[in-house]
Amino acid sequence: MKVTKLVAWGGITLGALGMGLAINSFLPQRFLIDDWVEQEADLPFNAVNFPEVEVTFLRCGRITIPEPIAVRGAFTLTPRVISHSAVLIRHPRALFLYDTGLSTDIYMYLLDQSLFFRKTLANFQFEQSLDSHLKERGIAPSDLDFALLSHLHWDHVSGISDIPGVPLRINRVEYEAAKLGLFEAGNGLVRRLMGDNPMELFDCAEASYEGFRSSFDLFGDGSIVLVPLPGHTAGNTGMFINRSNGPRLFLLGDAAWVSQNYLRPATMHPFIWSRVTSDDATARQTLINLYNFARQHSEIPLIAMHDAELQETFMRSERQVETDSGMR
Ligand SMILES: [Zn+2]
Repeated sequence: MKVTKLVAWGGITLGALGMGLAINSFLPQRFLIDDWVEQEADLPFNAVNFPEVEVTFLRCGRITIPEPIAVRGAFTLTPRVISHSAVLIRHPRALFLYDTGLSTDIYMYLLDQSLFFRKTLANFQFEQSLDSHLKERGIAPSDLDFALLSHLHWDHVSGISDIPGVPLRINRVEYEAAKLGLFEAGNGLVRRLMGDNPMELFDCAEASYEGFRSSFDLFGDGSIVLVPLPGHTAGNTGMFINRSNGPRLFLLGDAAWVSQNYLRPATMHPFIWSRVTSDDATARQTLINLYNFARQHSEIPLIAMHDAELQETFMRSERQVETDSGMR
């Protein structure tokens, strides 16, 4: 065979292989979920044992993407809204945030980032800053007791410059892992976003909780329980909110993007998944754990920090509960 012919065949084969891989990346991926055994619940849940806790999602920005990018194996092109949010939690023991949304000056921090980064992961539409959300509610940064960070990716620490001085509570595993590279990546973006707010590290070193391997009971009364949901990052941390004035709630950080990630289960499209996930096998195991938990607890909303749809549904139901109790 002539060399030119060989090169042509080689090109065609590589092209076909590339095309095959590209198509394959949109197909469902097999998850080992068959050997699941139904688990006993830790304790019967009795809402009256818990305080009233007010939960408000503060949406600061969004990106709209086709569903197959958010959920591998989804065959519709339905647009999915990926939100950038903080959660404001009013608990009798503290007024605090879970993640921080976006600050007023977020674009200034992103100026020196690569064009690729700004056009992909950081390609959000700004809606409302954390500062403006807090002001609307008459809250000054000094009124906040702390901000608990689900993990240390840039988009979860991006509101911190709007709350100077507020202590940051961080899972020690996450902090130690970030020291190995994340803090300094992209010209120290995460380190700069975190400013000089004081940091307090916590450990999820207490007993397993609701099928998750360990926990940390934040106030010692069982109302706010943190559990490790690792894989997206080493110390991605979920938060159970157990309360008497509404449904129990489970915040997931970035263990999933949208509910379909744990309901199927399915990762995001591998192009994004491989860029944002620190440990593929662990992150997929976490999705399986969430899949199992969701099957057993259809009454508990499992809300990921970018899941605009579930956040809106939750906020609508919260307003309904408020109206109903106001009418009583
Ligand atoms: Zn994120």
